[in-house]
Amino acid sequence: MKIIFMGPPGSGKGTYASRLGAKLGIPHISTGDLFREHVKNGTAIGKKVDAIMKSGKLVPDSIVLEVVRERISRPDCAKGYILDGFPRTIEQAKALDKVDKINAAVNIIIPDEWVITRMTSRRTCRGCGKIYNTMFLKPKKEGVCDVCGGELYVRADENEEVIKERLQVYKELSKPLIGFYKEKGALREFRTPSIDVPPEEAIGMISKMVRK
Ligand code: AMP
Repeated sequence: MKIIFMGPPGSGKGTYASRLGAKLGIPHISTGDLFREHVKNGTAIGKKVDAIMKSGKLVPDSIVLEVVRERISRPDCAKGYILDGFPRTIEQAKALDKVDKINAAVNIIIPDEWVITRMTSRRTCRGCGKIYNTMFLKPKKEGVCDVCGGELYVRADENEEVIKERLQVYKELSKPLIGFYKEKGALREFRTPSIDVPPEEAIGMISKMVRK
């Protein structure tokens, strides 16, 4: 099963996509994570995308497509995959459509205020990448990862100004994408029921939608 997740930053799509992937036994592929890995490893791609990511702008399609095509051609994607954060532009959706048929495109709908509240309280572990939230998912000890003891930090693209820029970019670009998948009969809309909906509850609702 080939699934894509659409939704603004902070909508929970990373959490949902990763847990749904584990449930269905298919890999969860986040283009944001792939790029952060490139930046961390100092690759040629990482050097090209570092400043773009920090500003909250989008990485050029040619680079994104190169990274995604390589990832979905690996053997672990033979039975399917969940893409999170891709496609973000209509050009990316059309390019993906040429390579693979998507079974379900989940669109997560959530108010801007909930996104801003959630994201400004998000903390990421420098060591293992685990994500916490100072409001909903606190670490046992403030500023320290429960899993590896690493330092928790605020990602450079998670301050209010950058979040607003990312929400704006997302809105402008997602409209045609939603239309694209609606036309193909693949669109599934998930309306977030509350700011602190437990992930398991949301995933239960989403997994019913994608099987339809
Ligand atoms: P994310 O973790 O999905 O919010 O992605 C973080 C950043 O990576 C974005 O703000 C973009 O700069 C870049 N990025 C990730 N996926 C894409 C994509 N499909 N197209 C363009 N840029 C992307």
